[in-house]
Amino acid sequence: MSTSPANAGPAPGPRSPRDRHPYVASTAVLATMHDKLPLIAPAMAAAVGLDVRDVHVDTDQLGTFTGDVARRGTPWETAVAKARMGMNAAGISLGLASEGSIGPPPGLAFVIAARELVVLVDNERGIIVGETAIGYDIITIASDITPDDDIESLLQRGGFPEHGMIVRPAAGPLAPMHKGIHDRSSLDEAIRTCAVVSPNGRAHVETDLRAHHCPSRRPIIAAAADRLAQRLAACCPTCASPGWGIVRVELGVPCQHCRRPVQLPNADVYGCAACTFEQTLSRPESDGADPGRCEWCNP
Ligand SMILES: [Zn+2]
Ligand SMILES: [Zn+2]
Repeated sequence: MSTSPANAGPAPGPRSPRDRHPYVASTAVLATMHDKLPLIAPAMAAAVGLDVRDVHVDTDQLGTFTGDVARRGTPWETAVAKARMGMNAAGISLGLASEGSIGPPPGLAFVIAARELVVLVDNERGIIVGETAIGYDIITIASDITPDDDIESLLQRGGFPEHGMIVRPAAGPLAPMHKGIHDRSSLDEAIRTCAVVSPNGRAHVETDLRAHHCPSRRPIIAAAADRLAQRLAACCPTCASPGWGIVRVELGVPCQHCRRPVQLPNADVYGCAACTFEQTLSRPESDGADPGRCEWCNP
C-alpha cells in the first residue's frame, strides 16, 4: 500500500514527551458503525496517550457508498459531522471520525484508489485536525449478471468471501438491496431475487465498501489514523496546541541557470491548528531547479 507524500515531512515544532502531551489520559469518542476502533485507537494511544472508545451512532444518515443515502457534504464536512454526532451522543468534548472516498483518482480512469480521512474535533481547544492516506490496493468489483452466469472468477477477483458483497437489481429501482453478504448461498439467493424484479433480468453485484466488510480498506484507514496521531503529537512552538504540521506547500524553485521561479515545491509551510503561527522550511532541492524544467530556459 502506498500513502500520499503530502504532509509526510518531519515537523519542526517540539514533539511533546508522551507523558506531557495535553491528551494524555483524555478520552475521545469515535463515531462508527463499522468497527473502526481497532484501526484508530492504537495509534492515538501510542502517539499522544489518548484513550479512544467507540460510540454507535447512525453515521449512515450522512451518506452511504451505495447511494441509498446521498452524501451531501465534502469528505471533511462529513467526517467532522460524524465526529460531532459521537461527541453529542457521549457528551464529551473530544471526538474522532473517518470518511472514505473510493473511486478513480483525478485523471486516472482505470485505477481505483481509496482516500481515507481521519479527523479529530476538540471543542475545548476549538481545533479540528485531519490527515489522509491514499491506497491503491483496495479490492473492488462491480458487475451486472444473470443468475446463470459463472461468477467464480469475478468473486475471486473481489476477494470474496472475506470481502462482503452488495446485490441489487441491475435496472429499475435500487430495491431490494442486500448488503454485507459473505457466504455463497446468500449471494446466489440475493442474485436470484434481484434478477427477477429487474426489468433486464440482471442483478448488480458489487463490493460492500463499508470498513467492516472490506478488509483491503482497513490498512488505509489505519495509515490515515497513524498520520493524524503523529500530527497531534507535534505541538505548536508558540501556543503548545496539538496538531502542528504542514498546512501548505510553496512552489517556486529558482532555476539554476536564469534564477526565475520554476513551479516545483520549494518549501513546506508548517502551521498550528489553533493559532496563526507558521514556519517555512525550505526543501533540500530548493537550491536550484534543473533548467530543463524551466519555461524560460526550456520553453
Ligand atoms: Zn531558467
Ligand atoms: Zn499555535
